[in-house]
Amino acid sequence: MIRSEVIVVGAGPAGMNAALHAANSECEVLLIDNGNRLGGQYWRHMPKERDSLNYSLHYDFAKAVKLRDAVLNHDKITVKSQAQIWSATANDKGVVLHALAPRNLGDLPTEIVFETQHLILATGAYDRALPFPGWNIPGVMTPGAAQSLLKGHGVVAGKKMVIAGTGPFLLPVASSLVEQGVEVVGLFEAHSPKRWVRHLSVLLSNLGKLFEGFHYAWILNRHAVRMKFGYAVVEAHASDAGILTAVTVARIRPDFTILVGSEKRIECDAAAIGWGFTPDTSLAGALGLPQKVDVDGAVVVSVDERQVALANSEMSVHAAGEVTGVGGSVLSLHEGALAGLSCALLRGKITEKQYRDSTKNIYAARLHAEKFARVLKDVYVVPDGWRNWVTPSTLICRCEEVSCGQVDAAVDELGARNSRDVKLFSRVGMGMCQGRVCGRNIAGYLGTDDADRIRNARRPIIAPITLGELAQDPLL
Ligand SMILES: Cc1cc2nc3c(=O)[nH]c(=O)nc-3n(C[C@H](O)[C@H](O)[C@H](O)COP(=O)(O)OP(=O)(O)OC[C@H]3O[C@@H](n4cnc5c(N)ncnc54)[C@H](O)[C@@H]3O)c2cc1C
Repeated sequence: MIRSEVIVVGAGPAGMNAALHAANSECEVLLIDNGNRLGGQYWRHMPKERDSLNYSLHYDFAKAVKLRDAVLNHDKITVKSQAQIWSATANDKGVVLHALAPRNLGDLPTEIVFETQHLILATGAYDRALPFPGWNIPGVMTPGAAQSLLKGHGVVAGKKMVIAGTGPFLLPVASSLVEQGVEVVGLFEAHSPKRWVRHLSVLLSNLGKLFEGFHYAWILNRHAVRMKFGYAVVEAHASDAGILTAVTVARIRPDFTILVGSEKRIECDAAAIGWGFTPDTSLAGALGLPQKVDVDGAVVVSVDERQVALANSEMSVHAAGEVTGVGGSVLSLHEGALAGLSCALLRGKITEKQYRDSTKNIYAARLHAEKFARVLKDVYVVPDGWRNWVTPSTLICRCEEVSCGQVDAAVDELGARNSRDVKLFSRVGMGMCQGRVCGRNIAGYLGTDDADRIRNARRPIIAPITLGELAQDPLL
């Protein structure tokens, strides 16, 4: 069992900044992440030797390098990479985390148990995919998957790609792919840019974001790639060998229903389609942290002003970054700083006055970033109209190959009333991903309430492991 004064899970912007702020206040910190290198989703990168490519694939990699190096060189921070927390329990005295991780670099993964009185959860988010006919064809992926391949391994997902969905994230993905020689044959944003009009003041008070947008637009323009607004990929087509050959795009209304007759087929060998992000609350759910449904319909960890999700006189669990609501890397950085300092306060390493003095500016900056995040959720909302892109044979759960028709039958013929009933009757969400991908869509398809969404997001096993790995657990 490895004990640490403070444990941070997740080494993205939120987790790294939380670790740094807690360590700068004299806390001993263990930073655990399942990736090979620090950075999380946004700052995913390749080894130092490939830094010239790292810099060209990120808009602000210098910022990432500064934070990464400060964390790696801090004598109060121990970093444990490639460690996947798969189970966790909390009681009145602290938290126990079970991980599958190599003991030393180069070792095979083995079971390691960690214990702490003060946990900071910064497990981030993952891409949201919506079902449509053919979304299970090899070659159809999320923009995050395409970007992870590129940023993490220097590999392009295809030669001729369509990028579609909604949200500003489509821009960096398309830009980095064209820069690496991919022919982007279509870039489709589902919403109209006019949705920004009523938020112009917020946009103008975030000039940095605006410039970042111009930066991507300039790259795309250089490669003659134009974004088309009000379109979505509504079907994917495969060859006889089952490989992606084309997608159908259609004009959609603001409620995401299809304008019949507007469909157009585009040939491609890969398609990256994403609908924003879903916070990764797997670990939070296992620990029984309070959760709520955010304005974008995502289940998130509920925290107070100081990022505290759970605390008593002996222990605390903080949550920071996108696990508390999708809002971008800048908001994640601020929340991480607040969580780290709050932990230090609870450990008695800083006084209340020191906490207040050092967080004054951070609170103001967090508020500013939160406003921008709220606008993004409004501009790039995902209405339920996607439900009429699917047909009875469209798979809604790819792992267990459950179709929308089978879900309909569970409701109409077997009387299922919520996600749990549908799961029991159809095996939806019972596969490898345990509902991480399909759970939100099932709730959306059924139109269930917040309580159902929260219950559906809870799962006792945080990540899939084999029985052999389970048998190595020292506490079993
Ligand atoms: C695939 C992807 C690509 C993105 N690319 C961009 C981009 O280019 N530009 C942009 O502005 N925004 C991007 N985003 C949005 C971006 O994720 C956030 O703005 C920012 O990274 C959130 O920071 P975070 O610290 O909250 O979480 P993250 O950066 O998501 O970090 C969370 C970390 O926790 C780890 N983790 C989670 N659960 C466990 C566990 N059980 N055990 C161990 N480790 C765990 C994750 O693997 C990850 O490394 C991307 C998001 C995704 C999902």
